[in-house]
Amino acid sequence: MKKNKPHGKMYRSLQAMSVVPILVLGIVITALSYQTVRSSMYEQVHMELSNVASAVLNHYDTAYPGDYSLRGEVALDLYKGETVITRDYSYIDRLKEDTGIEITIFYDNTRILTTLFNEFNIRIVGTAINPQVYQDVYVNGEAHFYTNTTISNIAYFAYYMPIKNSDGTIVGIVYAGKPCKEVNKSVRRAVLPSILAALAGILIAGFISSSYTLKLLGAFQKIRSFLAKVSTGDLTVELEKDVLDRKDELSEIGRSAIKMQYSLRALLEQDVLTKLNNRRYADKRLKLLQGVADVKGVPFVVGIGDIDFFKSVNDTYGHDCGDIVLKTVGGILKKHMTGKGFAARWGGEEFLFIFEDLKLQEAKKITEAMLEEIRQTNVVYEGQTIQVTMTFGLTQGGVGTNSNELLQRADSLLYEGKNNGRNQIVADETVNSENKSDGTAGHENESDASSSEIQILDPEDVQIKEKK
Ligand code: GH3
Ligand code: MG
Ligand code: MG
Repeated sequence: MKKNKPHGKMYRSLQAMSVVPILVLGIVITALSYQTVRSSMYEQVHMELSNVASAVLNHYDTAYPGDYSLRGEVALDLYKGETVITRDYSYIDRLKEDTGIEITIFYDNTRILTTLFNEFNIRIVGTAINPQVYQDVYVNGEAHFYTNTTISNIAYFAYYMPIKNSDGTIVGIVYAGKPCKEVNKSVRRAVLPSILAALAGILIAGFISSSYTLKLLGAFQKIRSFLAKVSTGDLTVELEKDVLDRKDELSEIGRSAIKMQYSLRALLEQDVLTKLNNRRYADKRLKLLQGVADVKGVPFVVGIGDIDFFKSVNDTYGHDCGDIVLKTVGGILKKHMTGKGFAARWGGEEFLFIFEDLKLQEAKKITEAMLEEIRQTNVVYEGQTIQVTMTFGLTQGGVGTNSNELLQRADSLLYEGKNNGRNQIVADETVNSENKSDGTAGHENESDASSSEIQILDPEDVQIKEKK
């Protein structure tokens, strides 16, 4: 038989079925939340940059009323009204310090004032604007937000806004920018908690589904190994209780498996008519008991009982009536043997008795009660009352006895009883006297028990006999 592996194919399939959707959902949620945070962050940066660009223009308009103009003979200076603003970086530097935002003022397409430096730590004044930006903002006259413009090899989020003089003509551009690196870092920082939450969710869901899967498979494996044992003929194996305690279909399967085991056992080990154990079971059990007796010294008693003149029951009342008598007798035997051992239908109208952990005299007492009840029982069939008697042979088993010899001995004692008038119990007198109770009578013939007619017996007439 294959060894039951808890982490087999089914485990992997169940795990995949439960974990993969959670994983996919986690990835989708993370991607969506990243996307959402990123676009809202970009929107925020857009607003911030446009506010700063407007603030710069407002500042110059307030501080230096008038238009922007480029004047000078040799070196040109940018004027705002009547004030030269070229080389005056104090305002934009302070603004950068306060907001962390880079600022540039272009006249036409040329940087006049800027907070940006090149790799040699020189302000990149005098350089030209990106032609595409010039086209979008200067020529087309519209403010623009870019998520990736490169200035001196650094990527920026940039907002460009046209500078207009009082007559509405565009004379330059104001730029406000933030390094992409910085913005993306903030995006990542904002997204991190939701990524972590999604990860934790995946882990927790994975753990829950994994432990559920393991429990499910545990129960499944127990049913599987139970069925595997039953299939090899082990009809005594028990299904673990925790499987039956489950409140799902698996416990139902477990119950059905047990029912199947019972049915198999009944088919294999039960007599259909009397519902007593059959010969196959009794034989197996007797050998087992002999083994236990040999090892532990536990005594037992083997008895064989046979219904007297049963043939005439059939002959007189019919086979169906005989069956009813067999069933009735079987019920009485079962009742008296419960808790003492068991009775089995040994064949026809013959029964085997195994008294477990009992000595001969104790077994005999039980048999006496059994016989007495059989004598007293009226089987009513089609308005007629039938009574039967039985004859028994009993012998003691224990350490070193042989089950076949015990059966033969019980059988020969039974036939002694038959020959001596039936309706009696013949206990083995060769068994140690310590087993015997006082005052056991030897067998005596019943007055009319040897007749082949069905006897309606008066219990007073019956004596329990013991072989002398
Ligand atoms: P004795 O006292 O010597 O045991 O006499 P007996 O008539 O009981 O013994 P015998 O062996 O002559 O007859 C047994 C009868 O039991 C014969 C058989 O038809 C009947 N018998 C065996 N099995 C069944 C059964 O399942 N149902 C019925 N109705 N009869 C059965
Ligand atoms: Mg008989
Ligand atoms: Mg018989």
